[in-house]
Amino acid sequence: MDRRAFLRTMRILESRYPMKDWTTGMTAFEILVSTVLSQSTTATNERRGLEGLRSRVRKITPERLADTPEEEIARAIWHAGLARQKAPRIRAIAREILDHWDGEVERILMLPTERARAELMALRGVGPKTADVVLAMAGGHPTFPIDTHIARIARRWNLSRRRDYESVRAALERWTRPDKRKAWHLAIIAHGRTLCKARNPRCSECPVRKDCDWYRQSQRRRGRATTMPNKRLSGKSE
Ligand code: SF4
Repeated sequence: MDRRAFLRTMRILESRYPMKDWTTGMTAFEILVSTVLSQSTTATNERRGLEGLRSRVRKITPERLADTPEEEIARAIWHAGLARQKAPRIRAIAREILDHWDGEVERILMLPTERARAELMALRGVGPKTADVVLAMAGGHPTFPIDTHIARIARRWNLSRRRDYESVRAALERWTRPDKRKAWHLAIIAHGRTLCKARNPRCSECPVRKDCDWYRQSQRRRGRATTMPNKRLSGKSE
């Protein structure tokens, strides 16, 4: 997919999936905790984990979580999976935000994007994807976070030769205006959940299939398969 096709595709997806901002009403710290919970699980289970944590501590703040034993955090978030790994991460993050940032993630988000990204990634359990989600969704920074849906769709659209996180992010940021990155990030995720699923993407219903490399290749393969002579049958008739 070239740049023009990408822009055409994104205009269609943007109007098909109006922005639903899952962070509405959340503090920056809650967005950070929620993003850690979302690692290696579905959005539904992440939400259940977050709700479990909220009912356990009532208010998700660095103070409350730093004071809550790891085992209790693990029990509260078990719906989100990997609770034994995520609980110590969440508690360590809470402690770090309290000790180094006066209990305010916002102080990190006020820094220039690259510096803020480095500070977020210095927190336990925070990798590039988690940092970019927090930057974009909590801080309004012009990053393009790459989740599993976006990585898959970028491969199907051939946006980057390399598949590592930074190459895919660079490809999407190169072609997306900074003020569009959050909306397009959410639109591609919505497309991945709705039609462009990992297994059996629903290409026949897809409004952007005309520009999709994966679809065009699959059509070509299908075309070759139907025009190829059946060697076994033709051998018999000779
Ligand atoms: S045509 Fe199929 S593979 Fe391509 S974007 Fe649409 S659903 Fe995904």
